[in-house]
Amino acid sequence: MPIPTELVGSLPRPMKLQEAYEDYDQGKIDFGQLQAEQDKAAEDSIRRLEETGEPTVTDGEQRESSFATYPITDTLAGTGLADNLAGDGQYFAIFDDGHHRQLPRLTGGPFRYKTFASEFVEKNKQIASHPVKQAVIAPSMLMLLHPLEGEIPDYPREQFLSDLCDECEKDIRQCFAAGAVRVSIDFTEGRLANKNDSRNPWTGKDMLDDFIELNNRVIDRFSAEERKNIGIHTCPGGDCDSVHSKEVPYEKLLTKMFNINAGYFLIQCSSEEDKEKVYKLCGENSREDANGVPQVCFMGVINPLTPEVETAEQVKNDLVTAAKYIPVERLGATDDCGFSPFSRDEKPKHGSPDFARDVAMQKISARLEGARLASEELGV
Ligand SMILES: [Zn+2]
Repeated sequence: MPIPTELVGSLPRPMKLQEAYEDYDQGKIDFGQLQAEQDKAAEDSIRRLEETGEPTVTDGEQRESSFATYPITDTLAGTGLADNLAGDGQYFAIFDDGHHRQLPRLTGGPFRYKTFASEFVEKNKQIASHPVKQAVIAPSMLMLLHPLEGEIPDYPREQFLSDLCDECEKDIRQCFAAGAVRVSIDFTEGRLANKNDSRNPWTGKDMLDDFIELNNRVIDRFSAEERKNIGIHTCPGGDCDSVHSKEVPYEKLLTKMFNINAGYFLIQCSSEEDKEKVYKLCGENSREDANGVPQVCFMGVINPLTPEVETAEQVKNDLVTAAKYIPVERLGATDDCGFSPFSRDEKPKHGSPDFARDVAMQKISARLEGARLASEELGV
């Protein structure tokens, strides 16, 4: 079988859509008008991805406030925030360029999603001619909605975690039921968990083991057959062309991450200084048998944070090198991250989000062609 390839999920939102989000926050347009812009951008994403030949497509997350907050708020500014949440939660990340992203704060129970990702899958299935995938958020990210210290009156932390796991499970199951062939879980907080950034206290609490355990609490509810198509995405962040945790030694994460009983992993790698070390860590730590499923390592061969387009030749060479360390039947190709995980992202290194959408398509084409060339060279 040729080396499989898959995108993470997001694409830059056209400037027109970003402005529509802002107009909606300011009450200048209603939700229906915002949705009309989202639908237009989603349709354009799917059409253009299909033109590149991408085997499984997404709407580029055009209808989501962000990869992490789609279940709980309509916009990043907090318009349409779900019940029992306030806007002033923990930072989930402070990026290298100095900007930050903040999560809402849980104020009471019960915790419930207001939007499930299956809503997007249903719409995308009606547009796409290729199979559809969907990215969802990990319980380990949303556990940070709970204040780091202390308890919430009448809503014990354990009850929150139990409700959270139920919602995450439902999110994944409903995506499959709506026709998604793959569901990948965004786990950007994995690498960040060892950052020890005093401005962001949770990163100094050694939470990686808790994150992995919580994610398995959800993933272990699925059969081996289902887990073949449930993935985990790791990266050092990707927002406004900046990262949040690239300086954290990758081995701290990669020696543990494969304990998650997922069937495949979408692993940032192309922007690493020592890619070979990453292939080696993935080869050594990924499992041939994770409770009944072999773990496929989709290595990042494209950097969505730079406008320079990789060549198919570069992609091919990376994959051929990776195959020295990772069994080729468990090797795939992906991008280092989504191209714009947050709805407001002007892609500064690209000059504009509209240009960044064009660049993304060229990069995706290079990934597809590079994977084809590598498969040929490796004889698979
Ligand atoms: Zn990412």
